[in-house]
Amino acid sequence: MCGRPKGFMNAIRLKIPRLRLDSTSYTKLQRQILERDGWCCQVCGSMQHLQVHHLKFRSRSGGDEEQNLITLCAGCHEQVHQPSKLSHYPARE
Ligand SMILES: [Zn+2]
Repeated sequence: MCGRPKGFMNAIRLKIPRLRLDSTSYTKLQRQILERDGWCCQVCGSMQHLQVHHLKFRSRSGGDEEQNLITLCAGCHEQVHQPSKLSHYPARE
């Protein structure tokens, strides 16, 4: 399910939040995270509209480092930021 699809670049819209790293380094880091996570959402397994989420918010000393980042699809990412709509994060199917 998590194999790399053909044409995957077209399926991904990277949304780049406030930057701490310069944009080139951050883009490279995001790509590392996506590759580590097999280009699929770590909550639902979707391979579309992937984004890189900070597990710890930067304001709570979360940093731009690999251990603090996880691949989520746009839908799950949105739910992470609206916990009232999600009762069981980070449960996986
Ligand atoms: Zn998802």
